[in-house]
Amino acid sequence: YSGKKKDQHLTENMMNMKVRDFQSIPVVVQESLSVYDAITQMFLEDVGTLIVVDDQSKLTGILSRKDLLRTAIGSTDLEKIPVHMIMTRMPNIAYCRKNEALVHVAKVLIERQIDALPVVEETDKGLSVIGRITKTNITSAFLSLAENHDL
Ligand code: ADP
Repeated sequence: YSGKKKDQHLTENMMNMKVRDFQSIPVVVQESLSVYDAITQMFLEDVGTLIVVDDQSKLTGILSRKDLLRTAIGSTDLEKIPVHMIMTRMPNIAYCRKNEALVHVAKVLIERQIDALPVVEETDKGLSVIGRITKTNITSAFLSLAENHDL
């Protein structure tokens, strides 16, 4: 390949990297879960973001490490505070679909200064959570692109 062909190839490969090829399993919790149990869950599942759903499993909110830390330093009865009181809620959640380009997700993460996006599918009842994309997934995609191009 000439340099230009190689660049074209790289660009094409990059645009072909889709959410569905790099997404992780979503870690979801119910709105009624206590902040205490959410913190436990975050450690057990080894994730930095918990996705909150209603009893129909539809996306309603998101919880970051700092959301939980903020509550933990400001309150005592963490068992009595349900996560729906402290989560970032719809319609303010940034999410994506499985067929979107990964670079688009990277742009959203940087612009909104967040670590993760839920991957959703539209149903008649609301947004169904089918995955999760984090900065780690993007980093792994970045590495696989480099490796595929012997960089
Ligand atoms: P941390 O707060 O631990 O640094 P984030 O940067 O991911 O983690 O989260 C920053 C804030 O943005 C938190 O209040 C969190 O609830 C919110 N947030 C996280 N992910 C999203 C998202 N996909 N859409 C909207 N808000 C989000």
